[in-house]
Amino acid sequence: MRIEDMRYTKADHLRATGYIFKSMKVTFKNLVRATVNRPCTILYPWEKLVYPDNYRGRPGIVLDKCIACARCVKICPNQCIEMVPIETPELGKVKRPQINVARCMMCGYCAEECPTNAMMVTPEFELAAYNRADMMFDPIKLQHPHKPGYEVNYSFALISEMKGGAAKTYAKNDPEMHDTIVLDGVKCISCQRCAKTCPTGSIEMAETGELNPKTKKPIKWPKFDNAKCVVCEQCVEVCPKDALSIKEVL
Ligand code: SF4
Ligand code: SF4
Ligand code: SF4
Repeated sequence: MRIEDMRYTKADHLRATGYIFKSMKVTFKNLVRATVNRPCTILYPWEKLVYPDNYRGRPGIVLDKCIACARCVKICPNQCIEMVPIETPELGKVKRPQINVARCMMCGYCAEECPTNAMMVTPEFELAAYNRADMMFDPIKLQHPHKPGYEVNYSFALISEMKGGAAKTYAKNDPEMHDTIVLDGVKCISCQRCAKTCPTGSIEMAETGELNPKTKKPIKWPKFDNAKCVVCEQCVEVCPKDALSIKEVL
């Protein structure tokens, strides 16, 4: 193409002007609409809109439903959750999540991951504070009354079961369809750390029927109750011999 042919013609200019008028027409239409249908805004913070119960605001917790599995801590993409010790007359000395809401992006993953729905997404969004310390929500401050719709439930399908795009769906935490803990008996030294750590009491030390050649005491291996297990991986993390691993359901 020659350079002369690449110059704008009169028709091109007219077409471009037409495009400008087209978008201005939309703006003008909205201007008229906004002028007639006044007011378009509310006098926040004196006036407030009513938000639906599934509005995604700050996370909230129901303390007595929490089992201290720390799955919320592991899933948080912003790493703003930490397990901290608290003491209450009802629960005694326990660990519960604390959230730095200044770093929270309200994604709701913590509530999605929580196996007991103790963590929820609440419609609370007015979190501005004068200093950063006030943005740290300890477990007591993090509490929020539960309302249906605050918890995050989901259903999922397994890739391995997808045939022609269709597959059976399972509910969140379906014990038949979640990952399982696998023991490598050769590595296990029967220290029982996994059983002591498990927050759900899913591990029982069961005798294998063999005696330890040195101590002559029965050898015990952990036995896992899959229905109770919430796959928090705490047993895997505390095992000093790396005898436990996760078998994923895919
Ligand atoms: S809502 Fe998301 S970012 Fe906020 S604490 Fe939960 S997982 Fe972390
Ligand atoms: S995932 Fe749920 S049950 Fe587990 S520590 Fe977090 S809030 Fe508690
Ligand atoms: S068996 Fe292991 S993964 Fe399952 S709940 Fe207990 S500590 Fe967590």
